[in-house]
Amino acid sequence: MNKFYVTTAIDYVNDTIHIGHAFQKIIADVLARYYRIKIGKENVFFLTGTDEYGKKSEKAAKDKGVSPAEFVKEISDTDQKEQDSLNISYDRFIRTTDPDHEKVVSEIWNRVNNNDDIYLGEYTGIYCEGCEAYYFEDDLKNGKCPLHLNLEVKKITEKNYFFKWSKYSNFLIDHIKKNQDSIFPKARRNEMLEFAKNIKDVPVSRTNFTWGIKVPNDPGQVIYVWFDALINYLTGVGFLEDETLFEKFWPADVHVLGKDNLRWHSLLWPAMLKSAGIELPKTILVNGFLKLNGEKISKSLGNIIRPSEWVKKYGTDGVRYYLLRYCTVTEDSDVSEEKLKQAYNSDLANGLGNLVARVAKLCEKNGVEGENFEVKFDENVEKAIREYRLNDGLKEIWRKITDVDKKINEEKPWELNRDEAKNKLKNYVIEIQNIAFNLKPFLPETAEKIEKQFSENQIKSQPPLFPRI
Ligand SMILES: [Zn+2]
Repeated sequence: MNKFYVTTAIDYVNDTIHIGHAFQKIIADVLARYYRIKIGKENVFFLTGTDEYGKKSEKAAKDKGVSPAEFVKEISDTDQKEQDSLNISYDRFIRTTDPDHEKVVSEIWNRVNNNDDIYLGEYTGIYCEGCEAYYFEDDLKNGKCPLHLNLEVKKITEKNYFFKWSKYSNFLIDHIKKNQDSIFPKARRNEMLEFAKNIKDVPVSRTNFTWGIKVPNDPGQVIYVWFDALINYLTGVGFLEDETLFEKFWPADVHVLGKDNLRWHSLLWPAMLKSAGIELPKTILVNGFLKLNGEKISKSLGNIIRPSEWVKKYGTDGVRYYLLRYCTVTEDSDVSEEKLKQAYNSDLANGLGNLVARVAKLCEKNGVEGENFEVKFDENVEKAIREYRLNDGLKEIWRKITDVDKKINEEKPWELNRDEAKNKLKNYVIEIQNIAFNLKPFLPETAEKIEKQFSENQIKSQPPLFPRI
């Protein structure tokens, strides 16, 4: 691999992101950081951002008595700060209201239209305002949206532009079958293969609101939010604006996204690209959802936690560690603050923090000088990252931490004479530097602190990495 382009879902701005969204950003961040080390910073591009048009944000702005533009900017800014609190190393934070995006959306619309894949028709469908999406009868649960069980779905009739999605059914099936990695994990891939058989044409414009990108040559219609939002992955790497950047990074290597967005990403997006004559992304990585104390995280349940709330108490790397180590990337996971605190104290304060403090103190006492020893990724850690088993990657690193701790207890360097002790300590320092190096994609701040501490002229004790809570 000589370049790596990773994206997250862009979050809808009717509300600020919560820890569930944050987990997805952290997953993408680990991948981006890992590949920056492997293939060079300049060869990795990491895109995230906010999805801002549509009826839902128009309505939310109206309820608040502000203009949609003001409203979405405030949420987008807050989302960005939330991501920053977790040290998410995006190369661009895109907003679908960015001027370059509008140009790209119009261009894609025109290409798809010129390919004879857009037509004007009349649509009556079941629409969920919460999802800003249409559903088929089969999708509903007890007559309600499967994701918004508390929302009534509506029957809407509109004159809309349609995208000839059904035309791409066979193409999509072939594509997914031929490309084992096109959708990960496999269960999701099978699910989409099944769904691809029954694709129907989909409306891609709306008339019942104005907050959106206008359909070229028909300003009475705005482009449907999904059609507009998916295109951010092209805008983000310079499509139309910066040919060199685009040529270098497209197609996307990994789109990380939640299972609720899967159908659009794995079936609509490739069909749109195919129609527009653009190469398809390589892998769609579907992350599981987080539950909090066994419950779905939602505004109506009043159990929303913003990433920064946990970061304030447990630090950026405390939160990153807990989510990455105790959640699985592709399955649903249950989290709680109690478990976060426990993980923080036992694995970080005691485990890693204690080892680092212990070795630093012995080095200081025996006058051991730091050196930049040769470091490399552990084979199992790398394999885990490449296979999206990030929790296994951390498990592997913690196994090392326990091993070094055990070795120190057995070798008892404090009972040895200074020269012998120094020799032993040097080995521990090499181990710790390797641990720090392997931690870089996961806990970048901590890794950097350890690296610095153990490469200075005279290794010294430092304040604890993770003070007990
Ligand atoms: Zn819904």
